[in-house]
Amino acid sequence: MAVPKRKVSPHRRGNRRSHDSLKVEAFHECSNCGELKRPHNLCPACGHYNGRQVVEPKGV
Ligand SMILES: [Zn+2]
Repeated sequence: MAVPKRKVSPHRRGNRRSHDSLKVEAFHECSNCGELKRPHNLCPACGHYNGRQVVEPKGV
């Protein structure tokens, strides 16, 4: 099994993760309920996509 030769230092780990976070621009308001959702993804709050109900919203 391939194993890393050295432990990754906190500094190096932080450098790697510095690109992991999502930018604020990657969110848009849902046209149905106004919740923030990711573009081209169905809304997790109301289950709408492209103006129609796709899945049942959670907790109804
Ligand atoms: Zn919605």
